[in-house]
Amino acid sequence: MSDKPHQNLAIIGHVDHGKSTLVGRLLFETGSVPEHIIEQHREEAAEKGKSGFEFAYVMDNLAEERERGVTIDIAHQRFDTDKYYFTIVDTPGHRDFVKNMITGASQADHAVLVVAADDGVAPQTREHVFLARTLGIETLIIAVNKMDVVDYSEDTYEQVKTEVQELLKQVRFDSDDARFIPISAFEGDNIAEHSDNMDWFDGPTVLESLNNLPEPSPPTDAPLRLPIQDVYTISGIGTVPVGRVETGTLNVGDNVSFQPSDVAGEVKTIEMHHEEVPKAGPGDNVGFNVRGIGKDDIRRGDVCGPADDPPSVAETFQAQIVVMQHPSVITAGYTPVIHAHTAQVACTFESIDQKLDPSSGEVAEENPDFIQAGDAAVVTLRPQKPLSIEPSSEIAELGSFAIRDMGQTIAAGKVLSVDER
Ligand code: GDP
Repeated sequence: MSDKPHQNLAIIGHVDHGKSTLVGRLLFETGSVPEHIIEQHREEAAEKGKSGFEFAYVMDNLAEERERGVTIDIAHQRFDTDKYYFTIVDTPGHRDFVKNMITGASQADHAVLVVAADDGVAPQTREHVFLARTLGIETLIIAVNKMDVVDYSEDTYEQVKTEVQELLKQVRFDSDDARFIPISAFEGDNIAEHSDNMDWFDGPTVLESLNNLPEPSPPTDAPLRLPIQDVYTISGIGTVPVGRVETGTLNVGDNVSFQPSDVAGEVKTIEMHHEEVPKAGPGDNVGFNVRGIGKDDIRRGDVCGPADDPPSVAETFQAQIVVMQHPSVITAGYTPVIHAHTAQVACTFESIDQKLDPSSGEVAEENPDFIQAGDAAVVTLRPQKPLSIEPSSEIAELGSFAIRDMGQTIAAGKVLSVDER
């Protein structure tokens, strides 16, 4: 662990535009690839008379391991700049990326958008930028990659930059802060050092831009909300729910309530990293024990909060959603599964209240008959089983969700208001 402020960073962009290569390069340049891996490949490279190609070997290794579906994976990799330590959050291409990004399993404040210079804006470039805006990514660094493939041409870079600026304008992403950098992730141009191949560019490198990002948003003063991931029984201790504190503080001695199971008790012990601690705050993964609560009293999907300010349980809730993909149309009565924090509950579309202009957010149609892929809308949803969820304006961490059906993420949403049971 590091004393530096922590930043969650998303790497987004169209498939094959170079996201993994960029992550590999960032890890390599910041000395974050485990030394034994570098060493192993340095030897291999030297044997084959290719010393200096360690990076290529690291990438091969990352790719190979990824194909086998084991160990090294670009998500959850860490690296440091002078000012911050970064964790790469789930990245598109990962099966559950969209879902995780939405439900907060990997909330990022900032993102690097990778756009290949030889391909420009592609379908997933659009989708991810749209999603980034909906989910409130603050700063975008746009890496125009594969500059080596286009002979480091300034003209090509400017063309791609204009295309991306156009896209940002369409989705009303405040592009003033968007930083563009021409790079080659593969060759290492403008990643850690200014590239001699692109004298015409005098802006910051990728690492400098990451280092210059605004500080992560400070924790809010929202009450305790701790979605439960699992419930264990541990001999000598008893029932131990585990989860990550999203907001507020959990203290030994607190009276807490679990919703929607609707049970309460006093916190006896809190454990973090196998050590007992007196309290835990946002981002901490904890196991804790509550007096008088049995294993069957609570379950995954419950949210723990103060007994005098318990988590809301929705009879219905109104939300703003963006439909990303759906084979036909969505009408009232449709009942997909909502994934919110650790809960998964079937919810029925009670009504489709408004269709919105996705770029401006203004109302385009009241009470439309249906919505479809590409539409943004305000809808009212009715959970088929009790669901704890909060208005996004009050507790953002518990106020966003993914709508899934047929193994796909259909839509992303933010809770506007909750009509409590
Ligand atoms: P991802 O799907 O976005 O993660 O893309 P990858 O990182 O897997 O890269 C896709 C392909 O593009 C691979 O064959 C990479 O070697 C290649 N690639 C990535 N970055 C560069 C670059 O800067 N220059 C060149 N020439 N090839 C690159």
